[in-house]
Amino acid sequence: MHSGGGSKPLIIGVLALQGGNLEHAALLDRLGLPNLQVTAIRSAGELEGLDGIILPGGESTAQGLLLEHFGMVEPLRQLIRDGLPVWGTCAGMILLAKGVEGQAVSVLDCMDITVRRNWYGSQLESFITEIAMEGIPGDLAEVVFIRAPGVVSTGVDVEVLASVLGQPVACRQRNMIVTAFHPELTEDTRFHRFFIDHVLSL
Ligand code: GLN
Repeated sequence: MHSGGGSKPLIIGVLALQGGNLEHAALLDRLGLPNLQVTAIRSAGELEGLDGIILPGGESTAQGLLLEHFGMVEPLRQLIRDGLPVWGTCAGMILLAKGVEGQAVSVLDCMDITVRRNWYGSQLESFITEIAMEGIPGDLAEVVFIRAPGVVSTGVDVEVLASVLGQPVACRQRNMIVTAFHPELTEDTRFHRFFIDHVLSL
């Protein structure tokens, strides 16, 4: 738990084994928060002492194998189950989901959602759309979907924060937030601010 005030740094890790970690780090930096410290996470030891962690988009199979290879699955799962604030974007959403259609086991197995990979089609079918999202004040936000997962079912205490054509694209359950899209690929810092507020609220 972090009070948000004083000089104690707020330490946010960005998983940096594969995928869009640099873009997330850049957006966090752009928030200009004086006590925010952003750190790339590539080993189990680096998971210690974090106030929150972002799991970036990329390729969930590769990320899962790398997490396994570096002995990070168990410690990361335990930290998240113990309440570490986490935001999974796209592939990160797949890692967090308890259910992944067509896969016998899920990687982190933490959030009560079942997802279908590549719900929105191939790379060539990537698209940008505007959404309204609970907790994101102001105008509609432009967001990018790239081979994004779809949420096919949600547990009872999973809140849907945003939908596109009736399909959930952003959800929250306790300490966990997931978005099917990539806010780190636009100039809009509101989603990263939202995550920081989420971290501070827990
Ligand atoms: N389709 C990818 C997967 O299944 C996720 C794509 C993304 O993160 N942009 O892992």
